[in-house]
Amino acid sequence: MTLYFPPDTKNTIDAMRQAIGRNATFYSRIEIVCPTCGIDPLSGQALNSFCPTCSGLGHIYTMSGTVVLGHVNYGTLDSFRWASAGQYPEGDATFQMEYTPEHLTLVEGMDYLAIDNKKFSYTKQIIRGIPTPNRIILILVEGE
Ligand SMILES: [Zn+2]
Repeated sequence: MTLYFPPDTKNTIDAMRQAIGRNATFYSRIEIVCPTCGIDPLSGQALNSFCPTCSGLGHIYTMSGTVVLGHVNYGTLDSFRWASAGQYPEGDATFQMEYTPEHLTLVEGMDYLAIDNKKFSYTKQIIRGIPTPNRIILILVEGE
């Protein structure tokens, strides 16, 4: 028996995401050299150890947010898995988004994800799609 997958699977999934998707914001911490004093290139230390802007750290940290449209699924049976002792819930929610190099980079660099004013981190990244990857699924747990 030959399994046949329709070639337009990705378009179908993308269209559904457009219709029922939600925005999630991927936050990652960015390190910026202090604009007030700066960094000594030799020592790597702040130029002013009493700098009021960076508290003498030489860097300030800020969060950058990137919004991605995806399909959110809160704690349904879809996220249950079978184990030797029966079923167990895997994470609080799942987030499914388009598979792109940009999205992979966002996942790797993220500190947390915000959906509907809740913060999530991910415990697992699953890449799905036939014949080529077309979506990324993150298993989310609430909290950072
Ligand atoms: Zn400074």
